[in-house]
Amino acid sequence: MSANLRKISTPEPYLVETVWSDGFTSTIKTEVLRDNCPCADCNEDKAKKDSKFGFISLSNLKPGKNAIAKIEVVGNYAITPTWKDGHDTGIYTFELLRQIFEDNKLSDEDILKIKELREKSKNN
Ligand SMILES: [Zn+2]
Repeated sequence: MSANLRKISTPEPYLVETVWSDGFTSTIKTEVLRDNCPCADCNEDKAKKDSKFGFISLSNLKPGKNAIAKIEVVGNYAITPTWKDGHDTGIYTFELLRQIFEDNKLSDEDILKIKELREKSKNN
């Protein structure tokens, strides 16, 4: 049986943290979650980006694209984040979510580094 999501939160506006029923915890960058959005629109964008012409879609330039406004749990099998650019059609099943959080898990050191960089860019 696969693990259930116990908790999902945003300890920082640019970080998402999950806690799972089997004890696994993981924090990733919100932009990684957005980049893995499983909806049809985003998959289309990804296909364009991956093309040999390196097309950059306009949706990648939208402000708030990588910031989460809210996260809703769908039934007991998936979550739907609403992003600050208004995007809310991505349904992440727990299975997909777990995969993303396993593949992109940040170490404590990574998280410190990201926080430091954020602070620096704020002061500039
Ligand atoms: Zn999407």
